Amino acid sequence: MCGIFGVRGHPDAVHLTRLGLYSLQHRGQESFGVVAVDDAGTARAMKSMGLVAGTDSNGLRGTLAIGHTRYSTAGSSTIENAQPVLARSRGGHLALAHNGNLINAAELRSELEATGSIFASTMDSEVIVHRLAKSDAAAPEQRLADALRNVEGAYSLLVGIGDTLLAARDPRGWRPLVMGRLGEAFVFASETCALDIIGARFDREIEPGEIVAVDDAGVRSSSPLPARELRRCVFEHVYFARPDSHIFGGSVDRARRELGRRLAREHPAPRADLVFSVPDSSNSAALGFAEEGDLPYELALIRNHYVGRTFIQPTQAGRDAQVRVKYNAVREVLDGKSVVMVDDSIVRGTTTRGLVAMVRAAGAREVHLRVSSSPVTGPCYYGIDTPSREELIAARLTVPEIAAHLGVDSLGYLSLQGMLDSVPNGPNGFCHACFSGDYPTPPPTDPDKLRFGCGC
Ligand code: AMP
Repeated sequence: MCGIFGVRGHPDAVHLTRLGLYSLQHRGQESFGVVAVDDAGTARAMKSMGLVAGTDSNGLRGTLAIGHTRYSTAGSSTIENAQPVLARSRGGHLALAHNGNLINAAELRSELEATGSIFASTMDSEVIVHRLAKSDAAAPEQRLADALRNVEGAYSLLVGIGDTLLAARDPRGWRPLVMGRLGEAFVFASETCALDIIGARFDREIEPGEIVAVDDAGVRSSSPLPARELRRCVFEHVYFARPDSHIFGGSVDRARRELGRRLAREHPAPRADLVFSVPDSSNSAALGFAEEGDLPYELALIRNHYVGRTFIQPTQAGRDAQVRVKYNAVREVLDGKSVVMVDDSIVRGTTTRGLVAMVRAAGAREVHLRVSSSPVTGPCYYGIDTPSREELIAARLTVPEIAAHLGVDSLGYLSLQGMLDSVPNGPNGFCHACFSGDYPTPPPTDPDKLRFGCGC
């Protein structure tokens, strides 16, 4: 997953973009970058591995800036693959920041290579930059429309062409993208929390299939791409987005509370002494569970905030080592108690198993695990880091087998319908392929090709 942010028409565009990226850090922690266009029309980029914090982008200036926080769904985590992509073509610059995953990037790349294109990275996103460079259209939004025709998969994009800033969302609307205003300036971000940090006012979401162009003449909106069935990613509400954000027309906090409430109705634990969350992504769902189940909400696991998301480490070795580094249990809360541990999802089971052992070691008498999403049984081809079926515990084991593997006294997953009924503007128009196997596109013919890199 990745976070994208852009500003046009503000003298502090670079600084605002840095701030916006802080708020989107949860969407990607491997690398970040900023491209800025100065008054003379010159575009410059800075990119860095690691967190946004502690690095400065001195030297970049301009009134237009685009930023990106990245974590690769697979493939190489290198500086070459950090975004935004900045290229020069026919005398002008093209800058692009992408959140999502293209499913036909391998084919499109082969076509381009066959006609002489040379690629500087292994990212699917670079395909769009090459296609932009080939379009002869005069208007930037038409160039982007040309570039996106026949591109399949998930993309929320920010693109700089000359002094025009463009925002686009794929026709199925997989990933969020919002537009805001700060005085006269236009701001775009993956989530509204990135508008809040700079004091920008939320205006509206970019619609699925829409291209918005902003330049000195004002704002233009077009929807040149063939319409598709709406397929917003339900996992954004379950796990990815921040609870203080509004995405897909609703509050993430409200979605998670309702996920927790429904979970408590579907899988109650009336004899438990208390409820706690696996912080932070499960906090709101655990609160919902506690409210509905009329149980005390406790803080039984403490998370070290200076360590990134466990799962976000691209290697298994990194993930294993991080469980203890990231969490510790509070014995005073757990000792002798029958507890409900609420987590938003179980993907590989590695973290969860480590946490259950930790909670038991701190004295918990019974551990009842409740999960505010359904079993993840399939890979995501649209931007989430669940690329191979073999790694997914629910693809290999039944629920009772998972409970035994994790060492819990009981295990309850929220049903698919319960999940879709809980999120704002549901139950229809969501992608739940990783839970249901109902993929909106044919799976890529060779899923390994996705591993040549991803732009999300
Ligand atoms: P595990 O038990 O190893 O499957 O890890 C489950 C934990 O990973 C849960 O607490 C989730 O909040 C978190 N998680 C789920 N999906 C992802 C993801 N795509 N990226 C990062 N963390 C995730």
